[in-house]
Order: sequence, then structure tokens, then C-alpha cells
Amino acid sequence: MRRFSLCLLLTLQFAACGSGKFAGTVDGGQDGGADAGTDAGSDVGLPEPVLVLRGATVFPASGEGVLTGQVVTVRGERIDSVLPDTGQVPANATVIDLDGLFLMPGLIDNHVHIATYDLETVPDTMETFLDWGVTSVKDVCSRLDEILDLRDQIARGETFGPRIVAVGPAFTAPDGHPAATMWPGQDDLIANALRLVQDPDLARQEVGALAAAGVDQIKCVMTDCFGNCARMDPAVLDAIVDEAHALGFRVMVHTDDPADVTAVLDANADGVEHGFVAGPPQADQLQRLVQQGVFVVPTLSVVKQYAPVGLDGLINHLEMLRLAGVMVALGTDADNGGVPYGESVHQELGYFEQTGYSPTEAHGRNPTGSSPPGPVRTTRNSGTRKICRPDRSGGQSPHRSHSHPEPQDGDCQRPRVASLPGCHRPGRIRSQVVK
Ligand SMILES: [Zn+2]
Repeated sequence: MRRFSLCLLLTLQFAACGSGKFAGTVDGGQDGGADAGTDAGSDVGLPEPVLVLRGATVFPASGEGVLTGQVVTVRGERIDSVLPDTGQVPANATVIDLDGLFLMPGLIDNHVHIATYDLETVPDTMETFLDWGVTSVKDVCSRLDEILDLRDQIARGETFGPRIVAVGPAFTAPDGHPAATMWPGQDDLIANALRLVQDPDLARQEVGALAAAGVDQIKCVMTDCFGNCARMDPAVLDAIVDEAHALGFRVMVHTDDPADVTAVLDANADGVEHGFVAGPPQADQLQRLVQQGVFVVPTLSVVKQYAPVGLDGLINHLEMLRLAGVMVALGTDADNGGVPYGESVHQELGYFEQTGYSPTEAHGRNPTGSSPPGPVRTTRNSGTRKICRPDRSGGQSPHRSHSHPEPQDGDCQRPRVASLPGCHRPGRIRSQVVK
């Protein structure tokens, strides 16, 4: 991985929660003129605001490496073009000089927990994500009302924070994880952030209730916690997946043991969280993961803390997924201990690089444009992007992890939010400057 001695980045975010994909990306802007033109023609005579960003080193994560001498033009809420700087700018454009900065798409964390313990810190958490360039997150178990309210407030532009995809409460067995492992006695948290199920028909009803409440996806927990908790009955998992699919929802499943992954595959679920913590994937599992289009979110940042195989073993397991062409998405499991919001995404990407993913693959694109092996896939159609690493030596981050496994050179320090026009409103450009 090329490391940058001066890591400066600016992240563009475009609100497109309803459409399920980014309205525009840096690389998408290169061929996105038609979309921009459509937007321009749909208004009632009001000119779209035009923003011109010049002087930045652009990292489109499209296999072209980094681009210099470019001008990025944004019309309304979409990137219109990324073109060589000719010195010409559209009339009435706002021009921002980004000399010495990097410009890149936003990062995505596909496995976080936001609304569980201390709800008073949630606003700080939202800002921390954005400070680290994380502009989208998937919350895979939180208090139902709180996470949906937060998601919707951000989507409406009433609250500052990353775009959120939320499952609400996770399904688990009575005496399953985390009810019996992390949350014993926390009845209020269990009632609001979990659905304890052991009957397939009742599980179906709960899926329907969550769908009606407005969740985006469904999450299950399928593990015996290395013999320390109750495991979900496979018949219950089958019922949940079947009902969720019938209602149009994807299902992801927490697993630790390879045998649990087989249960996920048998149930025809859509995603594996954590995955192969207790042991390596088997050949037939790799084949089925590819054939069934099941993605894996390995969350090395958290599972390295308890995996019997250690970090080296986990990286080896991820290498096996990569070589087999399994879809892999980046997630961290923040906020668990030692997994700080935002910062851990940069740490996790470091693990992906250790596994053998190229920087472009690690940011979600296959540079050859051909079939993978195993590019890192991210939420929906969006790419998880990175341009530099967090500082491991300083003490600026209030969420700093104390368990970084290795120092990195050329690191970034904690980012700071810069002020750009409209940057605190979803639907407008939001910026992050990392120094
Ligand atoms: Zn988790």
C-alpha cells in the first residue's frame, strides 16, 4: 500500500438514502453527466449550485490510482465531472482550493452498534464517524426505536451523522448471545435490542413486526459462544430467513464456528458476520459462499480479541475467502471494547491489505474490471474507501483504541471537520479533512 506522508482527505457525501445507493461518487462522476443533466432539467428554473473543487489529489478507487491536476465539479447533489484542470470554471460556481488535500469517496462500516448502552453519547458518535471519513454505517443490533429515529432524523437532515442502515433488534436464542454473555440482567436492553426466539412461528411474527416497524434488514445470532451460550435452533433460523425473504428483507447472521456458517448457507441467508472465528473455511463452504452470493463481514478488529486462532489465523482465513472469490464487506463491530467508532475502519482496512487485497480492491473495485478474486464489497452499490491510516502514536482521539496490533508509518492523525458550503446537511456536500 502506498502510504502518504501527508494524509489529507476530503470526503464527499451525497444523501441518497431512499434510493439505496450513492447518488454520486468521485469515479461515478466521470460518466455521470447524464444523471446530472436530468437533475438540472427537473427543477423549476432555479439554477443548481455548482461547486468546483480544484487542486486535490483525487482517489476515485476505480483502479486508476490517484489523479492529480483534476477539477471535480459538483452540480446540486451530484458529481458532474472529474476532468483535467483547464483553468476554466462554470459561471457562478463556488470554487474551493484543495491544494495538498486528498479527495475520495466516503468510508462505510458494515457492522456497528450505535444505540445500545449510553444513548447520551450518540451525537458524539455520529460526529466521530464523520471525523474519520465514515459516511455510511450498518447498525446490526441496537434499540429499535432509538436507532430508527436516529436513522430517519439523519435522512431528513435534522441530525448530523452518517447514513444508517439498521436492523434494530437482533434475533437470538433464549440464553443466547449477547443476552446471556454480555447483557445478563440488563432486561431493558434485552427487551429493546434483542428478540429471543425459540419457536419458528413466533419468529416469523417477530420478523413481520420488525418489517412493519421499518427496519432495513434482519439480523440473527447463530453461535454457541464456544460452548458458553445457547445456539439458535436451525429451524428458527430457517423460518426467519424464509419470512424475511418473503417480505423483501436480507438476513445476516452472526457466526463464530464454521459449522454455524454451514447453517447459514443451509438456511439461504444473505450474509455472515464475523464468520470463521473458530476455524478456517472448508472448501465446500467457500464454494457455497460464492455460488449462493453470500457476503462475509469478518470484523477482524473485534474477533482478534477472542479468536482461538489469533490475528494471524484470522488473516489467513480472510486470505482464503479472497482467493476463493467470496464477497467480503468491511465491518468493525464498533463500539465493542478496543474497537473505536470510525478509527477502527482504518484499522480494519489495514488487515485487508495484510491479507493481500490491493488498495483498490480494498476500496471496493477490481482494477481490471474483470471478475474478482474477491474484491471487497460494501453496502449495496457503494464502495468502502480509504486514503490513509489513523495515527497510532498520538493521543488526539477520545475513542482511541489501546489494542492496535502494529504501528504504521505514514499514518494520519485524527481528522477534523472542515467547513464547506452546506456541509452539515444531508443532501449537500459533507466534508472531512484529515491532517
Ligand atoms: Zn456486533
